Formats: sequence, structure tokens, C-alpha cells
Amino acid sequence: MQFHSFYDLTNLNTLAVDAQAEYFCQVQSLEDITAALAFARSQSLPVKVLGGGSNVVMAAHVSGLIVQDIAKGFEVIVQDDKHVTIKVQAGQNWHELVMQTLELGYYGLENLAYIPGCVGAAPVQNIGAYGVEAKDFISVVHGVNLETGIVFSLDNAQCDFSYRESIFKQELEAKVLITSVDFVLNKQESVMVKYAPLNTMASQYFDEEGKQVSALLLAQWVINVRKSKLPEPRELPNAGSFFKNPVINQHDFLQIKAQYPDIPSYEQASGIKIPAGWLIDQLGLKGQSFGPVRVHEKQALVLVNQGGTGEDVIAAASEIKQKVLMHYGVTLEQEPRLFS
Ligand code: FAD
Ligand code: NAP
Repeated sequence: MQFHSFYDLTNLNTLAVDAQAEYFCQVQSLEDITAALAFARSQSLPVKVLGGGSNVVMAAHVSGLIVQDIAKGFEVIVQDDKHVTIKVQAGQNWHELVMQTLELGYYGLENLAYIPGCVGAAPVQNIGAYGVEAKDFISVVHGVNLETGIVFSLDNAQCDFSYRESIFKQELEAKVLITSVDFVLNKQESVMVKYAPLNTMASQYFDEEGKQVSALLLAQWVINVRKSKLPEPRELPNAGSFFKNPVINQHDFLQIKAQYPDIPSYEQASGIKIPAGWLIDQLGLKGQSFGPVRVHEKQALVLVNQGGTGEDVIAAASEIKQKVLMHYGVTLEQEPRLFS
């Protein structure tokens, strides 16, 4: 294992921000991780864990030792007629995992197809799309405490998952390296098509074919829909949705609805969810540039970076946040994590 100083991170973040790590290393075993932690301790460096860099905003100089876990693959650890439990290494590409499990007849992750990044990051913000969240299938998260070097395992309840949240963004933020994740998947197909446009596509398919869409075909629909509206980071650098959808109380919602009767809304246990992209779009910001950062034409939640720094991205996001707060009285929360 090599420790690189002044390591270029430009290709390791999907916003393509020019960034350099004070130190960088890749690990793929507990032995490597132990050596990395010892190196960091000997140099008094903070340790920061990077996955695929698809949910981070980087400063030009990132201090400390940046550790990337590149261990890949998965194994079946237990199964019966109905379920299979797999242990997946942190460096495994998420989308490849989704497709490989579907091909093996292990179902559940189909709505989460084509989300960039690695498995180790999936529990961090409890990745979600089209009404399915990683937490629905995660049974145990395994990792190493960065301060003590002690290995740990947290079961689903201990991870404290909620909408785009987990213990790894709260008490354990920047304190652990997730080494592997156990998922319990189904052997019977039971697709989730509550969200548009999947519901329309599924009912049309049922009318024409007389049967429910398969999980594999559903994954293909998800991939196609996402390709049609989300920019490919390789072509237009971005970090996906830049803001979480706010969940507000009934009183605040009715006030906004009185002014904007067409506002979409979704009732949740914790309040009423309104799409942040809609709020931004209504302000006429789609396609608008804030310096080198542009609000994507097809999805106002996505900020495209056209050669700007991490500071430029944060400045654009702050302006948008301010406008949303001024017009609707709603505070947007940033989704990507800061690396500085
Ligand atoms: P990084 O960006 O490298 O890291 C993200 C955070 O996780 C950082 O805080 C990092 O320190 C931490 N982390 C990473 N790996 C580990 C580890 N092994 N141990 C401990 N901490 C770790 N997200 C969704 O939820 N749903 C979507 O539909 C979705 N669509 C997207 C579409 C696009 C085009 C893009 C660019 C992003 C999208 N995202 C989406 C956001 C992003 O892909 C996910 O959050 C993904 O899980 C991030 O994975 P990563 O490996 O790139 O993590
Ligand atoms: P969309 O269809 O334009 O819908 C906008 C928002 O409305 C979504 O974010 C979704 O919230 C919410 N929504 C839509 N139908 C809903 C329903 N039936 N019940 C509850 N909430 C509903 O969204 P999109 O941008 O194309 O994204 C599609 C899916 O991919 C969404 O789930 C989105 O979260 C996910 N995605 C996430 C990222 C990211 O970086 N986090 C990036 C791209 C796409 P939810 O976000 O709560 O699902």
C-alpha cells in the first residue's frame, strides 16, 4: 500500500472540482486499514473516507489522509427459500451490484439502479430512489472506528436510518470507515411502482402484456428514465440532487399552497414533503448560471459545475438556498458532504 502526498482528486469527485489531498491511500483489507490509521496517527493527520466521490463537494486542498476502500465483490452468507443475505465489500460499485443481484434472481434493489458510487457510502445517506431506500434491505453495516481502530457491526435499527439520513451522518460522521454491508434480498419478485413515471409504464405494460413487469425490466426502465433527465457526470459534472426535499408541517404547507395551488406534495409520517426541485424551478432558475455553476435544464435540483471550484459550487448553492428561503420561507438542506 502506498501513501501519496499532494494527490490529485479531480477525477475522484463527480463535480470535477480541482482538488488535491494532503495524503491519499487505497485500502482493501483490515491490515491495510490498520496501517493507514497508524500512518495518520504518526503524522497527526485527520482521516477522511472517500468512496466514488459522487456526493461530495471538495475544497481545493483537502487536509489529512484521504482513504479510499477499493475492496470489491460479494458473497452469500445465508439463504432459504425466500431470502438471501449477501455481504458486499465497501468498494463495490453500487449499480453493478444491483444488476448482478437481479441477474442471480435476488430482488429488491431494482429501483436503486444507476445510482453512482460505492456500496460503502450507501448506508451513509441511506440512498433512495422511486420509493425504495437502502435501509429496506440493509441488515448489518460492518466497519472500523477511525479513532480506535476497533471493528464494529451495527444492525439496521442501530444505524438510525431515515430519509437520506443515518447515524453515519450524525454521531458517527467522519468517525468510521464502513468495510462491508449485509443486505437481505428477496427470492420472489415483488416490484415497487408507486412513483411516476414507473406507475404509468407498469400499468401500460400490464394492459399490453397481461402480467406485472419483472424486476430486471423495471431496473431497465429506471436506467432509461434517469438517463433521460439526469446529466452524466462524465459529460456534465454534478453531484446528483444538491438539496434534500424539505419535509414541512401542515401549517407551513397550507401557507405555501395558498400562494402556489399547483405545488406537488407527498404526505409522510413526519410531515409534508415538497420537491425542492419544483421550488427552484418555479423561481425560474432552471438553466440559470451562478458563475461557473448552472442549474440543470431538465432537473432544477442538480447543479452542473462548468470548471468552478468547490467554493463556487457552495456559493451558487447558498444563493439558491437564499432565494428559496426568501420566496417560500423554506430552508433547504444540502445533500453532498463537504471535504476540506
Ligand atoms: P462519496 O461521494 O465518496 O462519499 C459520500 C459520503 O459518504 C462522504 O461523507 C464519505 O466520507 C462517506 N463515505 C463514502 N464511503 C464511505 C465508507 N466506506 N465508509 C464511511 N463513509 C464513507 N443518491 C441517492 O440517494 N439517490 C439517487 O437517486 C442518487 N442519484 C444520483 C445521481 C447522480 C448523477 C449523482 C452524481 C449522484 C446521485 N446520488 C444519489 C448521490 C450519490 O450517488 C450517493 O449518495 C452515493 O451513495 C455516494 O457514493 P460515493 O461512493 O460516491 O460516496
Ligand atoms: P421526480 O420524479 O421529478 O420527483 C420529484 C420528487 O418528488 C422526488 O425527489 C421524490 O422524492 C418526490 N416524489 C415523486 N413521486 C413521489 C411519490 N409517489 N411519493 C413520494 N414522493 C414522491 O424526481 P427525480 O428527480 O426524477 O428523481 C427520481 C428519484 O430518484 C427520486 O426518488 C429521487 O430522490 C431519486 N434521485 C435522487 C438523487 C440524489 O442525488 N439524491 C438524484 C437523482 C434522483 P424522493 O426524493 O423522496 O424520492
